[in-house]
Amino acid sequence: MDKQDFPLIFEHSKEGRTGFSLPDLDVPETNLEQELDEVYVRKEAPALPEVSELQIIRHYTALSKRNHGVDSGFYPLGSCTMKYNPKMNEDIARLEGFSHIHPYQETETVQGALEVMYDLQTSLAEITGMDEVTLQPAAGAQGEWTGLMMIRAFHEANGDRNRTKVIVPDSAHGTNPASATVAGFEAVTVKSNERGTVDLEDLKRVVGNDTAALMLTNPNTLGLFEENIVEMAEIIHQAGGKLYYDGANLNAIMGYARPGDMGFDVVHLNLHKTFTGPHGGGGPGSGPVGVTKEFARFLPKPLLTKQGDTFGFDYNRPDSIGRVKPYYGNFGINLRAYTYIRTMGAEGLKKVSEYAVLNANYMMRKLEQQFFLPYTQHCKHEFVLSGKKQKKQGVRTLDIAKRLLDFGYHPPTIYFPLNVEEALMVEPTETESKETLDGFIETMLQISEEARHDPEIVQEAPHTTVVKRMDETTAARKPVLMYVKE
Ligand SMILES: *Cc1c(COP(=O)(O)O)cnc(C)c1O
Repeated sequence: MDKQDFPLIFEHSKEGRTGFSLPDLDVPETNLEQELDEVYVRKEAPALPEVSELQIIRHYTALSKRNHGVDSGFYPLGSCTMKYNPKMNEDIARLEGFSHIHPYQETETVQGALEVMYDLQTSLAEITGMDEVTLQPAAGAQGEWTGLMMIRAFHEANGDRNRTKVIVPDSAHGTNPASATVAGFEAVTVKSNERGTVDLEDLKRVVGNDTAALMLTNPNTLGLFEENIVEMAEIIHQAGGKLYYDGANLNAIMGYARPGDMGFDVVHLNLHKTFTGPHGGGGPGSGPVGVTKEFARFLPKPLLTKQGDTFGFDYNRPDSIGRVKPYYGNFGINLRAYTYIRTMGAEGLKKVSEYAVLNANYMMRKLEQQFFLPYTQHCKHEFVLSGKKQKKQGVRTLDIAKRLLDFGYHPPTIYFPLNVEEALMVEPTETESKETLDGFIETMLQISEEARHDPEIVQEAPHTTVVKRMDETTAARKPVLMYVKE
């Protein structure tokens, strides 16, 4: 984009213009030069933009309109659960009793906040069928790492130091092998079969007395419920390994299936996905981890405790893997998740999964008319199409994604999972209306028509956005992140 199209706030600046007024100073002025080491004292005023209040409002309002979010349009980004985040959550998070407290306060003065955390842990334990939950991890990936560190501590406590391998299906989210590696394990791949689920024969081949754990995402990244979970659990447990459940896709199974009941030892959830923490801008997340009783002593410390009606923290945890996050996790996101769980109730959460699954299947069956569907069984909350038919017409999946921008949609996830050629991974979520689903289906079918008759319009898309196709390599290798005054 040409800079002239959208001036930076600095370029609106006119010397002497202001957008604020401060009250007169009513405290003694400090002589900074005397108080601070001179290296810290500015020699000249910072180069801040000098603009009026209205200019600031117009500038940032215009910028915000160029952003695509769940509040502005459909966002079927597979694996990310871009559902509507109820505004009730925001109201609760802004209550002063929650927003004006500090993590260093004495626990007697923040009993309400601790109760929220305690109740949330209890609810998540119930939803997942686990015994204990920690709210500390700040993201799904950090939850994975935390869980694996506990599995490591468990094996080490048993003197079992040869368990160096973590088995990960080839369809897994990239964070799974990454977390296993960062936790000091070797990630070993297990293949998927022709139905898109874990190949049991291959699992038997890779499992052994060096297996620390199997990490399973369920429903998996193809949106398919793993069919042989009980057998897999037996194979791993018999070999002395532990079962890790990547619960980022819980939106498909809430109230219907629980990792704990399937035999899993450790599970993480993504509260910013399933439980409506706002996400997508790289902001704070929350990836709580649930464990069975035998892992409780390894949980991160401090542990939130309840004695009688009083909540507090237990720091005396000699077997704990330690702290994984300053303070007690991202309280604001946990509070929003708590609000969501309380407003939905048990029946409501079940309905969430029902509609998430229904919406995905409805869309999948309509789109398979034009797009190749590699795995044809019913899906759960998301599904993966292949753009390989369109590729033969000269239109790649990337082009389809870019063309969707012209219609005001956020594209689905593309080229993931890696085991599907020209993958298009669609997750509509439960919060969308049938009209929205139909609108997207119609657009996808139209783009497929265009690929046949007018491929250039797709290949050269987007046509209506401010920024056209970017040179992604240059953007990644030589990003310009600073404003340089000319
Ligand atoms: C999103 C996701 C993760 C990672 O969660 P982050 O919060 O992004 O770290 C892990 N596994 C699956 C299946 C996911 O969808």
